[in-house]
Amino acid sequence: MSHFAEQTWADFVRGMAGHETKPEIEAHLLSACPECKSDFEMWDRVARFASQEISYTVPDGLVYAVTAGFANPVAAEPNTWNLACLLFDSAAVALPAGIRSGNASTRQFVYEGEGLTVDLRFERNPDSNMISASGQVLDKAVPLRWLGRAAIVLSNDKGQLVSKAEAGEYGEFQFEFVPQDQLRMSIATSDRRTLRIALGNLE
Ligand SMILES: [Zn+2]
Repeated sequence: MSHFAEQTWADFVRGMAGHETKPEIEAHLLSACPECKSDFEMWDRVARFASQEISYTVPDGLVYAVTAGFANPVAAEPNTWNLACLLFDSAAVALPAGIRSGNASTRQFVYEGEGLTVDLRFERNPDSNMISASGQVLDKAVPLRWLGRAAIVLSNDKGQLVSKAEAGEYGEFQFEFVPQDQLRMSIATSDRRTLRIALGNLE
């Protein structure tokens, strides 16, 4: 269980925490609570690449100033991202009609960029009308090597947050979202540029 609510972290890393909340969080982080340190790092990462999106404009200096207070020195991250290349799209694979997958609601992609391979699988949940996404991000050169933390953020064409996840030990992640056009996924890792995937229309 989180020691602060997600919304509180989201405000905090964007420098929008209230006058009462902010000192409380800072004091708590200084107490080196491992759980909150981990939450903070995750949200800080989300904020840093969300800040590349128009509607989340965060002055970088603010985030870094906040970070400098308690975390390890944070390397200045270039405010840039690389677009991933599509290697595989199950919808683009022409199969003879008789062999077509019975499960047309599943779509798979493989993307590559920044030395990473990203496997994605989208499945529509017929009950909720949500799309479940599951995936794995791997080091292309050494697929079984632990990547370190990877934050995955899904945003719409206005740059608004749609969903987010943090990759597990094997780079695996999953989340759900309401289907919409022109989604993009950003994958932030500690030692690479943010990788962006333009998902376009998932129908
Ligand atoms: Zn805590």
